[in-house]
Amino acid sequence: MTEPTSAGATPAPTDFIRDIVATHVAENRYPKIVTRFPPEPNGYLHIGHAKSICLNFGIARENGGQCNLRMDDTNPAKEEVEYVESIIEDVQWLIAGWADHCLGFKAKGATPITQTVGGKADFFSGAVDPSTIGHPHAPSVEPFFASDYFDQLYEYALQLIRSGKAYICDLSPKETEEYRGAPDKPGRESPFRSRPVAENLDLFERMRAGEFPDGTRTLRAKIDMAAPNVWLRDPLLYRIRHTAHHHTGTKWCVYPLYDYAHCLSDYIEGITHSVCTLEFEVHRPLYDWLLEALELPRPLPHQYEFAKLIPGYTLVSKRRLIQLVNEKVVTGWDDPRMPTISGIRRRGIPASALRAFVTGVGVTKFNSVTDYALFEHAVRNDLNTKALRRLAVLDPIKLVLTNIPAGEVIEVEAVDNPQDETPTTRKVPFTREVFIEREDFAEVPPPKYFRLKPGGEVRLKYACIIKCDEVVKDAAGNLVELRCTADLDTRAGGTNTAKKVKGTIHWVSASHALDAEVRLYDRLFAVPEPAGVEDYKQALNPNSLKVITAKLEPSLATATKEQRFQFERLGYFAVDPEDSAPGAQPIFNRTITLKDTWAK
Ligand code: ATP
Ligand code: MG
Repeated sequence: MTEPTSAGATPAPTDFIRDIVATHVAENRYPKIVTRFPPEPNGYLHIGHAKSICLNFGIARENGGQCNLRMDDTNPAKEEVEYVESIIEDVQWLIAGWADHCLGFKAKGATPITQTVGGKADFFSGAVDPSTIGHPHAPSVEPFFASDYFDQLYEYALQLIRSGKAYICDLSPKETEEYRGAPDKPGRESPFRSRPVAENLDLFERMRAGEFPDGTRTLRAKIDMAAPNVWLRDPLLYRIRHTAHHHTGTKWCVYPLYDYAHCLSDYIEGITHSVCTLEFEVHRPLYDWLLEALELPRPLPHQYEFAKLIPGYTLVSKRRLIQLVNEKVVTGWDDPRMPTISGIRRRGIPASALRAFVTGVGVTKFNSVTDYALFEHAVRNDLNTKALRRLAVLDPIKLVLTNIPAGEVIEVEAVDNPQDETPTTRKVPFTREVFIEREDFAEVPPPKYFRLKPGGEVRLKYACIIKCDEVVKDAAGNLVELRCTADLDTRAGGTNTAKKVKGTIHWVSASHALDAEVRLYDRLFAVPEPAGVEDYKQALNPNSLKVITAKLEPSLATATKEQRFQFERLGYFAVDPEDSAPGAQPIFNRTITLKDTWAK
């Protein structure tokens, strides 16, 4: 599951959509391959969206093309600027250094040419660094907004009316639904279907001017009320909504519907391959009908569908994620247990790991649940190469090395990352009193226990072999400390380095340890398919978060949020970027354990 590189080290992924694109490239069908990622800004992006982002940007990247980030913002009721901003941040993070050079953008304030039916946007510009999109100091470029096309979409609607292909319908939403019929039952024609063109034009203009209340009239395409595909039964193109829009303010009170706005936005931006998920397959005939009905100059965009990514042990639907946030099951959209891109980032998962996972699972036409362990595997794989090894003890017990004088500090050398070609090292203080992990000592050891036991020996990693001489307990029988002897000759460069023991454990010098808050995250849900559980709260993992104070090696005091760490023998950890005050001691999030604790 390695990431494809343009250097050609790993072959680029292949799938049926990429095969189609490759055919078109070979045929020279388009001057440039242009894809888009079109989220509706009604929530934060999640791991499923990451798949769509990596597919669309990946296709652009592999073909010297462009991928537009477009806010599919045609429904003012649910959309917010907060979501727009989070989407920009998340997409930029996910594609940074990988496909950011393919990001399509427009100069701020540029508007597409309007009034000219058939005209395409002329605002593409390669002159500005796309990585500056959304940055407060470089406000010169913006992503695309479907709402920027409202003028042009309105013109297209007038054209459809003039050519007799659309009409104003006065049926109520309920009646419209009834008239539509069902897949096995033909629909009935609206009594307003044969309204004269002039009357349709007049009513549409008055709808736009705000004369009619919400729900009283719609603009509908005149297609076929008996079509087996219900989406072709005179679909709605425009409805009245007296609601302010996050991007266009109060300029409009008629808003286009998804099917109408989407194909035309694709057309306006010169999209060649409009890649979406399977539920839109049945909409494709309408997508094509609209583009044909407007007799637009070629080439036209085409829609291709693939199966959604649905990872197990989580929920991927904005509606469900909003519920988790609103019902305070999590601390917010970026809670490290959320399957959102912002949660994944905050948890300490690198963008490269997320890309490797969503690309590695492939692109298919069949809906299925993807094993969550595959995601965790990709995260471990990626972090193994990136993470700095550090010593930390999560559940400490004290160990006194009676033959090391109090106050003496022995500096031992520890490797930062053995995966590096030429690994660097650092000095770690080793002293008379150290902490070890409680579970690395057993007073009554089970068979084949190679860690510390009374009278037994173990190696303290990077230091030396020690022997447990005495177990000290308080009056109540609780373990107070272990008194041991250190065989200092077994240190690196010592006279007895050949001595072998079976167990090696980690430790931290007690007098140097940092006490730090560590948040031990685990899967949010305890069942493979929480979406199928009636009350999702029953499916929650009660142990998805445990907050502890751990003992960390002193070098971690200056850890930054960009760094990734492996606390040796425990897992991968990263600085929490939100709650760690600048300059203060960092708080760490456990990104993932070293081993899969969920495997059966
Ligand atoms: P949700 O169902 O989570 O609300 P959505 O489909 O309504 O998602 P959009 O903002 O419309 O969300 O999605 C933007 C793009 O991402 C669309 O092209 C959509 O097909 C794609 N997408 C959404 N969910 C997934 C998923 N789970 N896997 C792959 N692509 C997805
Ligand atoms: Mg949607």
